[in-house]
Amino acid sequence: MPIPMLTDEEWEVIRPLLWADTKKIKSYREESGVGLREALDTLRFRACEKYYEITGFRETNPNALWHHYLSLYGPECINCGHLLRTPKASYCANCGASKN
Ligand SMILES: [Zn+2]
Repeated sequence: MPIPMLTDEEWEVIRPLLWADTKKIKSYREESGVGLREALDTLRFRACEKYYEITGFRETNPNALWHHYLSLYGPECINCGHLLRTPKASYCANCGASKN
């Protein structure tokens, strides 16, 4: 089954949830010292739940949602939120962060 892509309008709904989820993963890992995989298995993500509501597709990794956004641009930088220049960009032109 192909992964459903998000339109701009859907992305506007998902994006703030995704930012919150990303922060949640980070603080959870800092507090508990667990790895990313365990954090993903343990936490529940509102962005993923909303994505499921919109598309009917179960995505358990919120990081993957960045890649499901349909756009002419690349995904947003996970560090500063700036849109990467192309979907294939390997780093952010704004802050220089590499795309995980
Ligand atoms: Zn950036």
